[in-house]
Amino acid sequence: RVGALEPSLHSFLHVASDDEMLTQAAALDRHLAEGKELAALGPLAGVPTGVKDNICTKGMPTTAGSKILEGYRPPYDASVVKRIKDAGALVVGKTNLDEFGMGSSTENSAYFRTANPWDLSRVPGGSSGGSAAAVAANQCVAALGSDTGGSIRLPASFCGLVGLKPTYGRVSRLGLIGYASSLDTIGVLAQSVEDAAIMMGVISGQDICDSTSSHSEVPDYTAGLEPLDSFSSKPLKGVRLGIIKETIGEGDGLEEGVIRGGVDSGVINAIKDAGRHLEELGATLDEVSLPTFALGLPAYYVLATSEASSNLARYDGVRYGLREGGEDNGLAGMYKETRRRGLGPEVKRRILMGTYALSAGYYDAYYKKAQQVRTLVQQDLVRALSIFDALLLPTAPTAAFRLGEKITEPLSMYVGDMMTVNVNLAGLPALVVPCGTVPGGPKGLPVGLQLIGRAFGEGQLLRYGHIFE
Ligand code: GLN
Repeated sequence: RVGALEPSLHSFLHVASDDEMLTQAAALDRHLAEGKELAALGPLAGVPTGVKDNICTKGMPTTAGSKILEGYRPPYDASVVKRIKDAGALVVGKTNLDEFGMGSSTENSAYFRTANPWDLSRVPGGSSGGSAAAVAANQCVAALGSDTGGSIRLPASFCGLVGLKPTYGRVSRLGLIGYASSLDTIGVLAQSVEDAAIMMGVISGQDICDSTSSHSEVPDYTAGLEPLDSFSSKPLKGVRLGIIKETIGEGDGLEEGVIRGGVDSGVINAIKDAGRHLEELGATLDEVSLPTFALGLPAYYVLATSEASSNLARYDGVRYGLREGGEDNGLAGMYKETRRRGLGPEVKRRILMGTYALSAGYYDAYYKKAQQVRTLVQQDLVRALSIFDALLLPTAPTAAFRLGEKITEPLSMYVGDMMTVNVNLAGLPALVVPCGTVPGGPKGLPVGLQLIGRAFGEGQLLRYGHIFE
């Protein structure tokens, strides 16, 4: 299936060779030969899984979608990769992404663009677009993605999938190639809430090699997912949901000049319908206003680019991947040539923005101010979540847009992240579940409902999502 669909989708930067697949499968084979039960092989035994290419895989290329890491084969597996392999998963390949996770359409990959399986003329979303396209097209059963400002949730919404962005610290980041470390998380893309819950159970938990990983206990995420036929008629009775007013009002409440264009009416209708469906299932639903909602986006782009400018300083031609211009130009010349040729235009734009925001004289006006805004955005969300069990909102202002439509206009691409970045600023978990379609493409275009939960409330979100599904 991977082979048959790659020419039209381009989901993978690297497809595991027969040798790589057989080596991984051999461990399972040995296990079975020893007469062990299938269940004892682990919850992911034999499950073909995709891994976003900014997550390190031992011996398999890991480029983060950048030319500067072309040919890099990490000497170790990221903790999440080790965990899924230990659970029996087979890594079928490394999925395409926007270079270093910087983008919302996967068009910023230095290698090629990935198509949306629902309509090949459209983007799969980003930056985990390869993971989303691969799962949506059944090239693998589930995939790992990363989410710094929406990169799991946006592609899940655009490709009609379940996407889970965990609480910051729930999943180890060891082996995730850093973009903005205070916002980066690893999570999953899957075809059902149950699959997402199983994957989450495998990848969650403390890792002593990641000092930001939490030691709080990992619940059994599948435990709350009762079989569907055993549901009472009001399975969500007693659950209080808040729908974020600023996201469903066609621009109202959104600061002029910050959020341009508002939200597509088809998307708003799909979210409102989802809200009504949740009410039918027994939940109460009220509007909740988050006055700082629109401030998250500009704060995010100051902070994410600042952290990126620092994180990406390591690509100097000395330690990893590409080295150019080293012979006659001296050390500085080598740095310059390597970065000039190895980094793409969006990455350079962000390094420049971030360096500017952090520079003496501007630091207080931009970086510090953005940190203060981050606190306000977080406080607003946490306050709302002290009243509501979960918050509802769209995942993106539109369904999947056309390839090439926004690529020449970085700001319009950034605006598409307005529904997702606040969650990362606050470190909270969020789940996306498909909730309908809007017209477009041969069979409509999917819309994803986003549910934001309390810190470490992934289990609750999965339960709501499963009942809704
Ligand atoms: N689109 C956002 C950005 O470009 C988020 C990316 C991500 O979550 N990795 O920064």
